[in-house]
Amino acid sequence: MEYVLKTNSLCKYYKDFKALNGLTMNVPKGAIYGFVGKNGSGKTTLIRLVCGLQFPTSGDFELYGVKNTEKSISKSRRRMGAVIETPAVCLDMTAEDNLKQQYRILGLPCFDGIQEILKLVGLEDTGKKKAGNFSLGMRQRLGIAVALCGNPDFLILDEPINGLDPQGIIEIRELILKLNREHNITFLISSHILDELSRIATHYGFIDKGGIVREISARELEGICRKCIRITVTSTAVLSRLLDDIGLEYTIIDDTHADIYAKPNITQLSLELAKESCEILSVEEHDESLESVYISLMGGVDND
Ligand code: ADP
Repeated sequence: MEYVLKTNSLCKYYKDFKALNGLTMNVPKGAIYGFVGKNGSGKTTLIRLVCGLQFPTSGDFELYGVKNTEKSISKSRRRMGAVIETPAVCLDMTAEDNLKQQYRILGLPCFDGIQEILKLVGLEDTGKKKAGNFSLGMRQRLGIAVALCGNPDFLILDEPINGLDPQGIIEIRELILKLNREHNITFLISSHILDELSRIATHYGFIDKGGIVREISARELEGICRKCIRITVTSTAVLSRLLDDIGLEYTIIDDTHADIYAKPNITQLSLELAKESCEILSVEEHDESLESVYISLMGGVDND
């Protein structure tokens, strides 16, 4: 397999604090790589090192097969675009002027391609409107447009949907999928919004305390995830007693939700529960998905 990014025991220390502690990860060409971890686990630090904004304490990485210590790493970096934390856009400029400015920064000889990029991110009709008057989602798309200047084939997005409304989230999702599928752009996306990530990611790297705890493809993940029935009831205490009696395997999620790993006879279950004044509120098919794998790897849910 061909890799866009490979890191090898990468460490970044801030005095005694190990922000990255021997991190080894592999981003295959063509992937949408979901970089998953709690706040403070080291995701942005890794991204900063790859972008050349900071230097590793030890270990190394390869970008398009070029080691970070080699001179030609800057050439590899030209094939890469990034939106780190807040998008680097000038709020008192239009979308087009933001792109023109980025073209100048990159030293590109003419403004060819700007309209195409604006169209790609759905900002071609914003005219004289300044970025400061854009919605958060539009600003995020403008950030991606800026990162697309110079025609990169690897994009790094740091928490791209943080704070976006549902419409904004859908637009970013569709944009990422379009760029990946139609323009062959590989993505490294850091996020702690698992449900959204699971809709697009082809690979995952789970990071904790500065190291990768597991790297897995979406296909492998599917293989290890069991289908189950997610049931919402008025009392999982009553439900669990009943399921124990019947002998069905289950996991209690909270006071009202549980996952059952077999197809129970819902009518029967409902009648039995009613005898103990417990009501079924909803039943839906559910993948024991990314979230469960994350919880089992990290030993807890990220609530921030
Ligand atoms: P994430 O992106 O996963 O939320 P970060 O990579 O931003 O995590 O941070 C990892 C850890 O490194 C955090 O505990 C953070 O406080 C610490 N850290 C980041 N940058 C610095 C710095 N310049 N000096 C000291 N500590 C830092």
